[in-house]
Amino acid sequence: MMQHYLKTKDENPDCILFYRLGDFYEMFYEDAKLVSKELELTLTGKSCGLEERAPMCGVPFHAADVYINRLVSRGYKVAICEQVEDPKQAKGMVKREVVRIVTPGTNMDAQALDESRNNYIMGIVYLEDRYGIAICDVTTGDFFVTEVDEPSKLIDEINKFMPSEIVCNEAFLISGTNISDLSERYHMPVSAIDSHFFAEENAKAILLEHFKVMSLQPLGLEDYEAGMVSSGALLRFLYETQKNELTHIHAIHPYSVGMFMMIDSSSRRNLELCETLREKDKRGSLLWVLDKTKTAMGARLLRSYIEQPLVQKKEILKRQNFIECLNRNAITREEIREYLGPIYDLERLITRVTYQSANPRDLLALCNSLEMLPHIKSQLQDLSGELAKEIDQDFECFEDLCEMLKSAITDEPPITVREGGIIRDGYNEEVDRLRNAKMEGKSWLAQLEEREREKTGIKNLKIKYNKVFGYYLEVTNSFLNLVPDYFMRKQTLTNAERFITPELKELEDTILGAEDRLISLEYNLFTDLRDRVASRVFEIQTTAKAIAKLDCFVSLAVVAEQNRYIKPRINENGVIDIKGGRHPVVEKMIKNDMFIDNDTFLDNNRHRISIITGPNMAGKSTYMRQTALIVLMAQIGSFVPADDANIGIVDRIFTRVGASDDLASGQSTFMVEMNEVANILRNATPNSLLILDEIGRGTSTFDGLSIAWAVVEHISNRNLLGAKTLFATHYHELTELEGKLNGVNNYCIAVKENGDDIVFLRKIVKGGADKSYGIQVAKLAGLPDSVVERAKEIVQELINNDITEIAKSISVDNGNKRKPEQLDEVDLSQMSLFDTVKEDDIIDEIKLLDLKNLTPLGALNKLSELQNKL
Ligand code: ADP
Repeated sequence: MMQHYLKTKDENPDCILFYRLGDFYEMFYEDAKLVSKELELTLTGKSCGLEERAPMCGVPFHAADVYINRLVSRGYKVAICEQVEDPKQAKGMVKREVVRIVTPGTNMDAQALDESRNNYIMGIVYLEDRYGIAICDVTTGDFFVTEVDEPSKLIDEINKFMPSEIVCNEAFLISGTNISDLSERYHMPVSAIDSHFFAEENAKAILLEHFKVMSLQPLGLEDYEAGMVSSGALLRFLYETQKNELTHIHAIHPYSVGMFMMIDSSSRRNLELCETLREKDKRGSLLWVLDKTKTAMGARLLRSYIEQPLVQKKEILKRQNFIECLNRNAITREEIREYLGPIYDLERLITRVTYQSANPRDLLALCNSLEMLPHIKSQLQDLSGELAKEIDQDFECFEDLCEMLKSAITDEPPITVREGGIIRDGYNEEVDRLRNAKMEGKSWLAQLEEREREKTGIKNLKIKYNKVFGYYLEVTNSFLNLVPDYFMRKQTLTNAERFITPELKELEDTILGAEDRLISLEYNLFTDLRDRVASRVFEIQTTAKAIAKLDCFVSLAVVAEQNRYIKPRINENGVIDIKGGRHPVVEKMIKNDMFIDNDTFLDNNRHRISIITGPNMAGKSTYMRQTALIVLMAQIGSFVPADDANIGIVDRIFTRVGASDDLASGQSTFMVEMNEVANILRNATPNSLLILDEIGRGTSTFDGLSIAWAVVEHISNRNLLGAKTLFATHYHELTELEGKLNGVNNYCIAVKENGDDIVFLRKIVKGGADKSYGIQVAKLAGLPDSVVERAKEIVQELINNDITEIAKSISVDNGNKRKPEQLDEVDLSQMSLFDTVKEDDIIDEIKLLDLKNLTPLGALNKLSELQNKL
């Protein structure tokens, strides 16, 4: 046994081996040491023919899932080695095999998974200059593939899908793509797998074989070379770990990243699409507001819609029209919701069916779900539009399957398959016959007991049953003198003795024989039912997707109605015109409808950049995020929180908002901020929407203002970028840019002065704020009076050195001097900002200054720079 164990362990070196011995899974050697520590199990030892006992620990097989889940959630892989033959029939050692390898990305256990999100595994291949990306959820059979040419885009896709595990080729691991932050932050294990998996011909062969096609063309993969390799490799990895046919993966969906709005990683976090920035909680996110889905499938799909807003007008309109139609037919919509309620997670159910791990209760759940389908189908007939038609076409009712399951499965079946009690009376004659025999046997037992009692005069004679002895007659000590000769003694207890008789033995054989036969017959009938369901896997999956879609749009429709959203018009000429817009999440958090709505107007001409000033707490961030979220919601196809909206489709949304929590990654706040700005300037296009909050805050005032200024100049220049931008800033000096730079307009969030205090009006108005009210806000926050008073004195002194005047005199660079190619990629992390400088160098620098051509601000900057170096 130990030899076999060691051989199996050798074949699965990167896994913890759960080795089945009777009612336990045992682990040995290093595995045992590790697991006993991780799971706080007692470490024991087993003699194994060597001098020292092998360290061992074990878990009972019926509770193994809990232990496996705990290990897998900590990033370990677990190989499960089962007994694959009945120990009773085994000659010699029981045959054992690894039947499945559980990894974080392939865990199927319902207890370990959140039903409202997919459990993705991602396969990445790095080939010269491209990344192939394959994404699969083995619990549902979803399989996507794409490829990108830049590490940042790869990171964006990782952030979009948030896989539980990444497998990749060696080249990727050494490519220097920095995903360590992601893998640490989200405990996402990343491991290289066998290089053979990534050989082009191997990848191709497995795809053709699995999908039963002659070429890559029908799979849509002919233009995705790297994508093809990654999906072939991932599929092989799944075969290796799942060790089954994977029949539920019957389609592969290639997509290009350009088919969806691009949202970079930090914007996803900043906009709090599916979870909040700080608590990582769904509550407080956009998903939290929009999710009124009734089924797990709907919840998962809605999440993916939010992760991937559309960029094609036609597709957006299709969704909008369906939501509109659902709200026109509110009664139908509510009926559909009612019927969606009892539907279980069909996608994961059917996967368990194809894995042959579905239990009788799963089939009952399936049956109960299928029962709802005809009702929904008939409601669908009341709805019109392209999407309604698509859903209707994909939607099957499975009346035959439902009938079959209903007639076959009892109302309260057990979870286990080997205890009987699964099959309903009247479904199968033999089952009925055996059940009768069992029942009759029981009444014969009662009769026998009565007869023996009368014959022997033992008043409290009882026939009892236990697993070891079967049926026996029990006589208490006080009646032992009445026991007749034909009672054969089986066992002596302190106050009673147990006997059998030939007649009882015969009855026992009939009853237990019937029971055994019944259990195995029920088991066979059950697996037959399961196979029959499995043969319909594709149709059930298609219907499940249709249900998910329906559920999603019903949810969006309900939310639109409840929250007074309107249907935005969609345009392709870049105008974003929102009247009375609201922040979908903040308005929910604020009590008594106190949220103040605001307008937004941006276009590709005179209104490209809004510089937004106003004191802290005025509502600048909320306003900017609300604009981004309204645009994003519109592109999901959802209705939006506004009185009226006309949304020009944007290709990407970028946000640079506040100090993010990347301090843990060892970068300074300023560095993170500059990295993000660099990323935005490099990747934004004229059709992008930029949300920039307090750029340049993390450094000295002069540096910060200069950087902010230069960034606005860059963005406003149509030869360089020309993207629509909301730019909130503390630097009132930037309001000087209005009128000097094309497309730049000033806005501020109004506040009212009330003596020494301020009142926030939360209304955005034209024009720039002339004061920052920082001291008043600090006072509101409860800074001690003495500090507030002192700050007022200092600010008065500083005003004498007002830089606003200087700013007025700066001439702007409207880009005529620069060419786009000047935008080089700079790896900021390579630059040392803290090189030590000798004083001589500084004197040299002063000597070399060209004073005639130095502007006042330039001089001040230089002075500050030199001072910083000392
Ligand atoms: P800023 O970015 O200017 O510092 P925030 O956008 O963070 O300000 O807003 C501060 C707080 O003001 C928010 O947490 C929110 O509660 C409230 N707030 C912001 N905008 C509005 C609004 N339009 N209506 C009502 N309350 C608002």
